Amino acid sequence: MSEIKKEINLDNKLSEFECICRNNSLKVTPQRIAVYKALISMDTHPTAEQVYQMVRDEISNISLDTVNRTLHTLSGIGAAFIVEGTGQPRRFDGGLEDHQHFLCIKCGEVIDFHHEPFDNIDIPDKLKGRFKVLRKTVYLEGLCGMCSHIENNSSKRNPSN
Ligand SMILES: [Zn+2]
Ligand SMILES: [Zn+2]
Repeated sequence: MSEIKKEINLDNKLSEFECICRNNSLKVTPQRIAVYKALISMDTHPTAEQVYQMVRDEISNISLDTVNRTLHTLSGIGAAFIVEGTGQPRRFDGGLEDHQHFLCIKCGEVIDFHHEPFDNIDIPDKLKGRFKVLRKTVYLEGLCGMCSHIENNSSKRNPSN
């Protein structure tokens, strides 16, 4: 996703966001807009703390707690989601287009990728009647390019490890 594409999409995304809020009888407040805007402007799948640092530039008296609660509210209505597998602190994503994540277990980087067959995974029949599935996702974890490079080099230097 390039920076330019993001700029162009911002207006669309904001109106889409307002629409999701209205459908969920949630007021479109300046705080919610600021949190959402900060979230979608970061590619890094930020924590609440990182979103807070950014929103504070715009709304100086907002608290971390408010930002955290807002992120959870947005996740609850499907305007954002919590990145699976990242544990604590939670990481958030405002990228609603179909995509999957690769999580580096060493440096914690979350990399977006899109593999179409992963969009259409089937729900097993035995779950279908029992649970209401809200979101399906595939995520991969391992070592990113940088970390596997470092790992390879250090095992060459210390063959005993
Ligand atoms: Zn890594
Ligand atoms: Zn993502």
